[in-house]
Amino acid sequence: MKKNLIILMIDGGRLDRAKKSSVFNGIKEKSTFFSQSITYGHHMIAAMHAVFSGSYGNRTGTNSYWSTYDFKENKFKTISEYLHELEYYTCADTVSKLTIPKQGLDELNIHDEVNDDLILRHKDFLRKMKEKNKEGKSFFLYLQYSNIHTGIIEQVLKKYDNFSKEFFNNKKENENRYDQLFSNAGNYVTHILNEVNELNLNDESIILIMSDHGISIGEKIGERAYGAFCYDYTLRTFAYFIGNNFPIKQIDQQVRTIDFMPTILEILNIPLNEKFEKLDGVSLVPLIQGEEISEKMAFSETGNPQKEKSPPKKPNVKSIRTSKWKLIWNQYNDTKEFYDLENDPEEEENLSGKGLEKEDFLWSELKKINNFSI
Ligand SMILES: [Zn+2]
Repeated sequence: MKKNLIILMIDGGRLDRAKKSSVFNGIKEKSTFFSQSITYGHHMIAAMHAVFSGSYGNRTGTNSYWSTYDFKENKFKTISEYLHELEYYTCADTVSKLTIPKQGLDELNIHDEVNDDLILRHKDFLRKMKEKNKEGKSFFLYLQYSNIHTGIIEQVLKKYDNFSKEFFNNKKENENRYDQLFSNAGNYVTHILNEVNELNLNDESIILIMSDHGISIGEKIGERAYGAFCYDYTLRTFAYFIGNNFPIKQIDQQVRTIDFMPTILEILNIPLNEKFEKLDGVSLVPLIQGEEISEKMAFSETGNPQKEKSPPKKPNVKSIRTSKWKLIWNQYNDTKEFYDLENDPEEEENLSGKGLEKEDFLWSELKKINNFSI
């Protein structure tokens, strides 16, 4: 029987908080931890369609809040479809049916993020999946922990807009609010991993604990949560792969969340179907096994609503990133930002136009990727 796949998606989980959390540091001690995994779209719909398809939304069709149904299902095969074809039982529990591609899922369950107890609910799903194993079927279970997001809706999105002075002047309060929400996420992960243990699923499963994007705590005026800008506090996510194919180690080289799908397929010995479009992501198995592979550039894009209430239909802010440099193109007003991430991780000093060679290179790479856009 092939290994099960369990993905715990901590919606809105910030990397810096994971690095400080005793729960997440405990997970690091038993996993391959990627400390620099860059999301394609820093809002859930685009982010997760990219993860499920191993490809950027500018090619799959799902590049915004509005484009779930534009996903080109005949051209891009999702991880759920690959697994379903091999008789996996495929089950997801998420906050809305729009957040992930439905293709290949036996069950797409929707929870009520305010009223449901996600710990109890998700433990139930695990028990149900264990039954599938007993019937001789492997499973894929995707669980979204949505309560960081829930807290942000209630305490930030409904109270402030992207320019509220009250929000940006109270960084301490924003930090405390987020810390509380993150600590609840840690509690959730602890309970779920305990259940995995109790059900003896560890040896038979690959477990990926990841976040889709971070959330602002007031770093930059113009973004009170996520999805408006392309800065690292939302782009840089965490990913922990647990299972006996994954050595205990930390990998600091930049990877992209689109690389997870081909990685998992390679671990499970599932070949890519050549009839579908080529993936943007690459397998991280060589990197996990200690080989050197060249760092790939990470492309991200989002729709900045600016002064509007909702984001635009098409992305209007794009970025390309290496572990050292990032170029951001604000397409809506055709301005650029260029940051030296090593020396300026907060992205405060815009070096665009200062004649740095690397900027020209990244600009031509960004244009190349952007030219593939639908
Ligand atoms: Zn999200």
